[in-house]
Amino acid sequence: MIGEVLQMPSARHTEPVVSINALDHYYGQGRLQKQVLCNINLEIQAGEIVIMTGPSGSGKTTLLSLIGSLRSPQSGSLKVLGQELCGASPQQMVALRRHIGYIFQAHNLLKFLTAQQNVQMSLELHSRSAAVTRAKAEAMLAAVGLAERSRYYPENLSGGQKQRVAIARALVNQPKLVLADEPTAALDKQSGRDVVELMQRLAKEQGCTILLVTHDNRILDIADRIVQMEDGCLTTNAQSSSTAVV
Ligand code: ADP
Ligand code: MG
Repeated sequence: MIGEVLQMPSARHTEPVVSINALDHYYGQGRLQKQVLCNINLEIQAGEIVIMTGPSGSGKTTLLSLIGSLRSPQSGSLKVLGQELCGASPQQMVALRRHIGYIFQAHNLLKFLTAQQNVQMSLELHSRSAAVTRAKAEAMLAAVGLAERSRYYPENLSGGQKQRVAIARALVNQPKLVLADEPTAALDKQSGRDVVELMQRLAKEQGCTILLVTHDNRILDIADRIVQMEDGCLTTNAQSSSTAVV
C-alpha cells in the first residue's frame, strides 16, 4: 500500500529503502530471450549514498529502471519504500514514482520552459498552489546556486548548470530515494565534481537515499558504499568507499 510509503521511516533502523532478493531480468522472448540480471541481492538503508559501477552493458540501467518503478520486475522480490514491485499494479507503480527523484545522464529539461518553470513543473505534478510551487522552485534553484539564472532557458545554461537544474527538479519534492544514472557523463571534470557534491550535500540535508550509477572514478569518494555490476551480477556488496578507491 502506498499509504505505508507515505509514513516511510526517515529515521534509521527500520525497513531498508531498497530490498532486493533473487531478482532476475530477461529481455526478449523465446530463442531471442537474453538474461541481463542474474540473482541480484541488495539492500540499501535510509540515508545511504550507494554508487554502482561496472562496464557498459552489464545491466546497471536495467536495475536502476526496475528500482525506479519504470519497468516491471519479472521474478524474485524487489521492495522499494515498503512497496513490493513484483506483481504490483500499474497504479501502485505510478504512486511509488512520486516518492523517487530521477537524474539522468542527459538532463532532460524541457527547452521551452525556464529553469524555474522546469523545477516548478515537477512540484505541480504533486498539485500544490501556484504561489507555493513558485516559491519552492525558486528556493531550490537558490540551493543549487542558480538563483540568478532561474529565468534562463536551458539553451542559455552550461552543461553543469543544466544538470544542477535537473538536480533541483529531482530534489524539490524531497523524495525519499534519488536514482541517478551517470549524471556526470556529459560534464567536464570540475562540473561533474560540483554536481555530485551538490547531490551529496542536499541528500544529507534532506535525509534522502541515493543510488548513483557512474563510470566516473573521480567521484567514487562521495559514496558510503560501492557495488559493482558485472555481466548482470552484483560482484561486491559490502565494500567501503575507502577500500574501493585504493
Ligand atoms: P548498462 O546500463 O550497464 O550499460 P543496460 O542495463 O543498459 O546496461 O543493458 C544491459 C543489457 O541489456 C545490454 O546487453 C543491453 O544491450 C540490453 N538491453 C538494454 N535495454 C534493452 C531493451 N530495452 N531491450 C533489449 N535489450 C536491452
Ligand atoms: Mg546504462
